[in-house]
Amino acid sequence: MDEKKQEAGVYLYIPMVLTVAFLIGCFSVSLAAVRRNVSGLTADVSVSQSDRADGRGTVRRSALKESEGLRYRMVSAADVYELRPRQAAPSEKDSASSTENASAATTNATSATTNATSTTEEKNTATEAETTATEPETVSTQPAEPEKEVLVLPNDHYINFIPPKEDHVAYLTFDDGPSEYTEEILDILDYYDVKATFFVIYHKDMADKYKAIVDRGHTIALHTYTHNYKKVYRSEKAFFNELTSISDYIYSVTGVRTKIIRFPGGSSNTVSNYYCRDIMKTLKKSVPARGYVYHDWNVDSGDAAATNLAPEKLLANVQARLNKYRKPDILMHDTGASKRTTVDTLPAIIEYIYSQGYTMDKLTLDSYAVHHDW
Ligand code: ZN
Repeated sequence: MDEKKQEAGVYLYIPMVLTVAFLIGCFSVSLAAVRRNVSGLTADVSVSQSDRADGRGTVRRSALKESEGLRYRMVSAADVYELRPRQAAPSEKDSASSTENASAATTNATSATTNATSTTEEKNTATEAETTATEPETVSTQPAEPEKEVLVLPNDHYINFIPPKEDHVAYLTFDDGPSEYTEEILDILDYYDVKATFFVIYHKDMADKYKAIVDRGHTIALHTYTHNYKKVYRSEKAFFNELTSISDYIYSVTGVRTKIIRFPGGSSNTVSNYYCRDIMKTLKKSVPARGYVYHDWNVDSGDAAATNLAPEKLLANVQARLNKYRKPDILMHDTGASKRTTVDTLPAIIEYIYSQGYTMDKLTLDSYAVHHDW
């Protein structure tokens, strides 16, 4: 009888323990989710007075505290440009010493910081610009490298947030790279803690840039080897040869194989008809049939339309279309000199996207794929 009682006790006890364990498990999972959500809101970038006083100029991301409210100072495009006067890049030597200072100051420093300050003079200039919000000082005491200009991202900078809306994810995509600007784009993405997608073609002597895209956590994807419409769209066979060539090259320099692609000109391009009539109809079937996933875009920054389109125009193009979609896929280009303004406008674009309640992510094989099916 006792034994039976004990047995019954055990049978009751075990499910009870399991239930409690299950509840604890659920609780910690949801707690982790809340933490993740909170950290998703942490693009406020601030620097403490002490860091500023000793001239280290570190960038620190801190969790958004409820008491601080969810709204920060509204940043307009004009604000962004005033906060980020373009200056000559620091010389290599200064840049290196500033890196040392930065990493000594805090392990949270991002690579963007190294560009931010390298001398006390520059620091003072930046501080002045921030506190008085007057005309940006572009005076630099650095030995200038005239052709190489970089955006100077401020140390103390608050951006406007609303809590991310459910299922609203924006995809920043950069076509035709890598280029001389890739590193700078990567620095800006790091600064905002954003991952993006690069649809690359073959460029000579840029192996380190393909590798940097991958090493810094972004998606590298295929955009054909030559991007030469005449070659790419000559035939179905030619198209797949182009894909294989760029895929093999990417693999050789990064160790990554990808099946994510973007057609030069998009799947709706009509130029390809000149080289092979109706080839897009064929490719839109055979590409998925061979296990590739193609992505068009639904928000065009317009940077392909002109050489160095005005930043205000680029931003306006994104603002005009972003909110039409839960999953906006934003087309930009990483092609060097003619797209300098794309780099300049990127911070404003990212901040606008954040201000509209979107998170940003890189494309994966499972991501929603925008297709131009018209
Ligand atoms: Zn392209």
